[in-house]
Parts: sequence; C-alpha cells; structure tokens
Amino acid sequence: MTTQAEPVILEKFYHPLDELNYLVESSFYLDTKFFILVDENTYQHCLPILLEQVQTLRRAIIIKIESGEQNKTIETCIKIWEELAAHHADNTALFFNLGGGVICDIGGFVSATYKRGMHFINIPTTLTAMADASIGGKTGIDFNSIKNMIGLFAQPMSVYVHPPFLKTLDKRQVMSGFAELLKHGLIADINYWESLVDMKDPMNEDLTYLINHSIKIKQEIVNEDLMDKGKRHILNFGHTIGHALESFSMKQNEFPITHGEAVATGMIMEACLSNHLGRLPKHDVHIIKEGIVSHFGKPYMINKSNIPELMELMSHDKKIHHGKFSLPVLNSIGQTPSIISIHRSSIETALKEYLLLQQEFTN
Ligand code: NAD
Repeated sequence: MTTQAEPVILEKFYHPLDELNYLVESSFYLDTKFFILVDENTYQHCLPILLEQVQTLRRAIIIKIESGEQNKTIETCIKIWEELAAHHADNTALFFNLGGGVICDIGGFVSATYKRGMHFINIPTTLTAMADASIGGKTGIDFNSIKNMIGLFAQPMSVYVHPPFLKTLDKRQVMSGFAELLKHGLIADINYWESLVDMKDPMNEDLTYLINHSIKIKQEIVNEDLMDKGKRHILNFGHTIGHALESFSMKQNEFPITHGEAVATGMIMEACLSNHLGRLPKHDVHIIKEGIVSHFGKPYMINKSNIPELMELMSHDKKIHHGKFSLPVLNSIGQTPSIISIHRSSIETALKEYLLLQQEFTN
C-alpha cells in the first residue's frame, strides 16, 4: 500500500524550493527527463520563479495547457500524452505539476497512467491546491460534464508548497481556496472555523499558517483511509451538491463559478440537509450560512426548476450506491460528521428548504 507524501512547506529555517533543488540536482536524476506541466498563468507567473530557484529544472520540457476547469478533460490528457510520446518519455521520467487544482488533478492522472505510471511531484500555486488538492492522491478529469468522473488514486512522490506563489493570485481565486479551509474547520476544528469566519480580509492573513493547519487536518483524515472507503468521505462535506452546482454553472454557458464558490454554497445546502435529517440544529445552519456569506456574499442562486437537473448531475456521484447517497452529515460545527446513507428525496427536500433560505438574498 502506498503512503502519502509528506508536503514540504515554507518554514522558518528552510525553503521548499531549495529542498526541491537538492532533490533534482542529485546524481540519481542526472539522466532523467524532466517535464513541467503549466497553464498560461502559471507559465507566466510561477515558472520563472521556479526556474530561478531550481536551476536544474531549466533543462525540463515545458508542457503548456489552457487554464480552467473546462479543460480538465480527456482531450487535454491526449495532448499531454502526445507531447510525452513526442519527446520519447519513458516511465523513468519525472513529471512536475506546477499549478492549481486543475493542473494537479490532470497532471497526476496523466503521469500515473502514462506507460503504466511515471513519478510526479506537485508544486501547487493556488490556495486550493496548497491546502487541499495537491494532498491525498486523488487525481482525475471531468467527463460528460460530470466532475472527476474518470481518475485514480496516485500519490505524488512529494509536494512542495511555496506560499509566495500566491502573490499573483487574484482575490477571487484566493477566496475559492478559502472555502476549503472553512470546510476543514467545519468538519474538524471549531476554533479554526471561528478564527476563519472572524477574519476581516483573508488576503491580509498569514496564509502559510492556514495552509499548514489545513494540510494537517486533511492528512490526518486521509492517513486513516487512503483509498476513500470510509472516514475520508467526511472531506466531501459540501462537495456532492457543490460539484453538481459547479457542473451546472459550466453547462449554463455563463461565466462559471469557481470550485470554491460552488463548495461554499454546497456547504450551506448540505447544512440544510443535515438539519432536515434531524442532526444539525437550525441555529448552527444559521451560523454556517452567516459565516460563509460574510466572506462570499450572496450564495449561488437556484430556482425550483433547476432541482431535477442538479439531482441528475448528483446521480453520477461516486458516493451513490443502490440509489442511495453516502454523505457526510454535520451534527455540530467542528465535530466529525457522520457518514449516512440518504435517499435522493431527502436531498430534494433539503434543496427546497434552501430555496426558502435563499429568499432573504433576493430582496
Ligand atoms: P485552477 O487550477 O483552475 O486555478 C485557478 C486559476 O488560477 C487558473 O486560471 C490558474 O491558471 C490560475 N493560477 C494558478 N496559480 C496562479 C498563480 N500563482 N498566480 C496567478 N494565477 C494562478 O483552480 P483551483 O481552485 O486551484 O482548483 C480547483 C480544482 O481542484 C477543481 O478541479 C477541483 O475539482 C480540484 N480539487 C481537487 C482536490 C483533490 O483532492 N484532488 C481537492 C480540491 C479541489
């Protein structure tokens, strides 16, 4: 059984990119072909920093894809595999993912499947990727508008977290990652949740501390259930409905919401569900809604007529068995959620209850 990579994070006494340099300049990698996957934004903002500080990687072949969730597809994988083949990569090559969650997810998938698997290293450049997506070994792509439909578990050889990359990330993308931090607080640590909610402007906070704390929470959960057969489901809080909202928004052909914005609204909806199932007190639903709205503003708005399509999108969820959803349900803020088998009608009812709650944002 593979184990999780220990992330190397910016600490007081050493530098993660120095650690990476130390690794790649070792004689072991003298003849190794290096590949770095980027999108146009990480090519512009992050690659120069990486190559400045890890000079051995200057010999790497750069593979550039278009940014965005709409490119987390099999077509993009094919382009990357073609580039690898054109450069005669074999499975001794080393593949670096320099980017956000999309790059880490697709790059992990491509490298884990190319010639039955080559080693890969994650160098996350968004808050979402640093605090969440680069950790835990879930890789994959979207298919037929369904999030993460195709994929596999593959652990990165290592993860190098360099928070200064975040300097070029816009506020909307930082806040997208902030949603995952809020989730970590809700499912594991009430003090963390409260401190996050109390923050006036997350852009001015010590993000390194927050990233460290979130990674610790996620790693502890993943270590108990590497292959996502039980405990790890709690990390999905807000995601079953959130993923449906994310796909729905992309299908609407509108300016799509970010992953974190979808998860933020998904957490309010799943808090309603937890209350509907007699678990989470109404008062806690209110606290969760207020905490999320204080940072994200008005949640994503839906109509009654959207519910069947959202249910159809959810019906492809990986946590559905014999027509029932296996979902994390909150009992109280900061406590480990219970994993419960839920009939789809309960989700439909909870979405209808959310419509009532949503009315306060329409006035
Ligand atoms: P993203 O990868 O699309 O990045 C957001 C945007 O920021 C992109 O336009 C990107 O080009 C740009 N960008 C990245 N780094 C930058 C930088 N330093 N400066 C300027 N621009 C930069 O989105 P994301 O929010 O990082 O990740 C969302 C994805 O992660 C979703 O596909 C989600 O499903 C996945 N995810 C996976 C896991 C997992 O466990 N595998 C966990 C959480 C999320």
